[in-house]
Amino acid sequence: MAELNTKQKMAIPYVHMPLHDAAKRVTNFEEVPVGYTMEQAMTEAQRCIQCKKPACIDGCPVGIAIPDFLKLIEEGKPAEAAKKIRETNFLPAACGRVCPQDKQCQAVCVVGKKGDAVGIGGLERFAADWERTHGTFTPPVIPPSTGKKVAIVGSGPAGLTAAYELRIRGHEVIVFEAFHRGGGVMVYGIPRFRLPLEIIDEDIKMLENMGVQFVYDMIIGKVLTLDDLLQNEKFDAVFIASGAGLPKMLGIKGENANGVYSANEYLTRIYLMQAMKFPRYSTPLYQGKRVGVIGAGNTGMDVLRTAKRLGAEVTCYYRRTRAEAPARTEELEHAEQEFLNWKWLHNPVEIIADENNFVKQIKCEKMALSEPDESGRRKPIGTGEFVYDDVDTIVFSLGCDVNPIIPSTDKEVRINKWGIIMVDHVTCQTSKKGVFAGGDAITGGSTVILAMGQAKNAAAAIDKYLKNELKWETASIPTDPNASGVQWAGRFAQGKR
Ligand SMILES: Cc1cc2nc3c(=O)[nH]c(=O)nc-3n(C[C@H](O)[C@H](O)[C@H](O)COP(=O)(O)OP(=O)(O)OC[C@H]3O[C@@H](n4cnc5c(N)ncnc54)[C@H](O)[C@@H]3O)c2cc1C
Repeated sequence: MAELNTKQKMAIPYVHMPLHDAAKRVTNFEEVPVGYTMEQAMTEAQRCIQCKKPACIDGCPVGIAIPDFLKLIEEGKPAEAAKKIRETNFLPAACGRVCPQDKQCQAVCVVGKKGDAVGIGGLERFAADWERTHGTFTPPVIPPSTGKKVAIVGSGPAGLTAAYELRIRGHEVIVFEAFHRGGGVMVYGIPRFRLPLEIIDEDIKMLENMGVQFVYDMIIGKVLTLDDLLQNEKFDAVFIASGAGLPKMLGIKGENANGVYSANEYLTRIYLMQAMKFPRYSTPLYQGKRVGVIGAGNTGMDVLRTAKRLGAEVTCYYRRTRAEAPARTEELEHAEQEFLNWKWLHNPVEIIADENNFVKQIKCEKMALSEPDESGRRKPIGTGEFVYDDVDTIVFSLGCDVNPIIPSTDKEVRINKWGIIMVDHVTCQTSKKGVFAGGDAITGGSTVILAMGQAKNAAAAIDKYLKNELKWETASIPTDPNASGVQWAGRFAQGKR
């Protein structure tokens, strides 16, 4: 392609990633975006103006060299682009699909200040898929063993990233996972039509090939405690990456009726336990004809679209308006294309069951929004008018709290009043010697890429600890139960392996 100047690059229209037709896609679980062709990808990559101080890199919690990989795609070298991404991100195919780029790298893209930002996510996905389908991946070289052994609790993005980062530093790594397969929310929560299962399976296979061991069906805190790992099993360090899988409910009347689910249970049954293939798989799911989903965040969109694919008539209930819905714009738009019903300004107050305690109706109070308060936020206020809708399944999609099992069985691991594990914000050390934590366990429900960023910080600190280069200092770990979890505090020693 001819070399263009900045003005010419800025004049190239954004190349939208094609999507499968909505009427067709709601009949199956196939991935919705089709992916760029080589030509589309090269054109889109050409829109990057190669800023001297690229803000996009700072916008990425794992610090991908974004302009460099975009340049390689522009030059028609996707395999090299994938290799460049892999220098800092070992889950590019997943991140290219599920990262909230609109809030991170693309949010600060200079091209985006005068129009559409460069489609960094779509291009990351393109490079990663090229590598997968053309077999151009080069496995990392593992240095000789350091003789140190690290236990990782949980195999979501935080656990897998820490496993990778520690293994390439020569440490022995064993991942303990409560479920029968790895991947965390990427496998049991995020729907297949957004993130195909084989992508995560390939990444886990790669870790296995690197010598990382996985022990499934193992709940740390129940079967083995942290002290068992550190003292009896002779691990030199433990990294807790057990996520935030404890569902929140509303506490309204009727929540215990048959046909009421939390989003986590609903999605886990369908995706991890394969209820979507019932009766070929034996997981039962009471899948009604009229499904009501409470909440309009990203998880809510996933539940709505999943229920639609299972053939239900689906309605979203949210007590504010579309403008306040916490879901990403793209997720909301994709859901809106899929023939769902939207009940904005509807606050569920009761679930009404029949004589056998099966869900029959949902009762909602109609809401109005207040004038904006000092923070600019408009509060939903009840109008006193109630409506009843016939439904036979209700799914609560209101977010999750941190998994409580480990802190509840080891009081040395300090938590705040919401159950979030308290750590040093730089090193991810907990209050228990030799134990580090990362991902949703230290932030509360967050994102794949932030979990990965925290895990990279933690792995760098664990490596130092194993080399006796890190003093065990706990003064920086909050003692106040009201202290919040870690907000993204930046990249620290991630790159220095
Ligand atoms: C439905 C849904 C959709 C989402 N969509 C997106 C999205 O599009 N983009 C995005 O960036 N983020 C998304 N997220 C959030 C994202 O998935 C999480 O922030 C991320 O997975 C957190 O990673 P983690 O490794 O900390 O924890 P998790 O992914 O939760 O993994 C934790 C793992 O630890 C295991 N575990 C827990 N306790 C124990 C124990 N005691 N012993 C052994 N194993 C244990 C669990 O079984 C699990 O496999 C979504 C979340 C949900 C629920």
